[in-house]
Amino acid sequence: MTPPSTTPTSTPVAAQGGSARPDAGFTPEPTLVHDRVIEWFEDSARPLPWRDPDCTPWGVMVSEIMLQQTPVVRVLPRWELWMQRWPRPVDLAQAPTAEVLTAWDRLGYPRRALRLQAAAQAIVEHHGGEVPGTAAQLRALPGVGEYTAAAVACFAFQHPEVVVDTNIRRVHARAFTGDALPGKTYTSAQRRLAHELMPATEADDGATACAWNASAMELGALICTARSPQCQVCPVADLCAWRAAGSPPPTQEQQTRGQAWSGTDRQVRGAIMAVLRTGATVARGELLEGLPLPESSPEQRHRCLDSLLRDGLAAEDGGQISLPGTPTPTPGTPAGAHAGAPAGSA
Ligand code: SF4
Repeated sequence: MTPPSTTPTSTPVAAQGGSARPDAGFTPEPTLVHDRVIEWFEDSARPLPWRDPDCTPWGVMVSEIMLQQTPVVRVLPRWELWMQRWPRPVDLAQAPTAEVLTAWDRLGYPRRALRLQAAAQAIVEHHGGEVPGTAAQLRALPGVGEYTAAAVACFAFQHPEVVVDTNIRRVHARAFTGDALPGKTYTSAQRRLAHELMPATEADDGATACAWNASAMELGALICTARSPQCQVCPVADLCAWRAAGSPPPTQEQQTRGQAWSGTDRQVRGAIMAVLRTGATVARGELLEGLPLPESSPEQRHRCLDSLLRDGLAAEDGGQISLPGTPTPTPGTPAGAHAGAPAGSA
């Protein structure tokens, strides 16, 4: 282990304006942190299939979109299934929307499935069916934001983009600015810090920078977690600004409340989607009255169904509700019982 560093960097990140903690006692030398965290990652990273060198850029892109707001443990089986079923963008581009939404299952926020399919269609139309390699090209795809574009460019194509997710923001906040938590908003000061912390790219074509992105993300996911950081096994415990400051608790502004679930429109939308994923075509009244949510009002149920229709996640034909693209049932076909269908966020 490298000895502790108590020497400020030549340009202390905490003093560059906008930090929530501008009087941090010291800032560790970034290169020391890079080396330690990358070495830890090489020994301790989870062997996730989208990190396999043989994983295609499409596989990386699917994982990045699934992992937004959904934990790895829930994504893994869905990702495997999706990659077997739609191993290339062209496969997903041609799939019926109802199948795509059904296969999304309970990953939550199913608009991501629609956006992923729209991106696949744009890849086929504009890029010959191959995922484009630059962040700018990726950013131009429907539903691909700044984070996803940077992550795919970095993890699939080894372009040293600045990748910042919630885990990386937390590691930056704790290790470099001494904050307990980074707060809800990605501030301009945090953006500057993320850029300043990127390893130089000249000597190795950005290999270290890409490794830093992956390593810091994994450290935040496994060790420097939001609720109970495992500082005793952290590779940079002796360099960490938050530890050096005595591990202060989060300020009120830094604390983010967990998202409520019970009684929310998300819960009701999820319950409706769970019914529709069974393949049912159901009359509006029957669908809404049958939801196993006694606390939700008829107004809330109608509002949630209307929002799903607006989002393109459900379709209505003559008062019958189904997933978009579901074949019209022939007369005499049961409308589809839906009690007990598992829900998910929508
Ligand atoms: S020492 Fe603790 S707070 Fe600091 S980076 Fe490591 S896990 Fe996070």
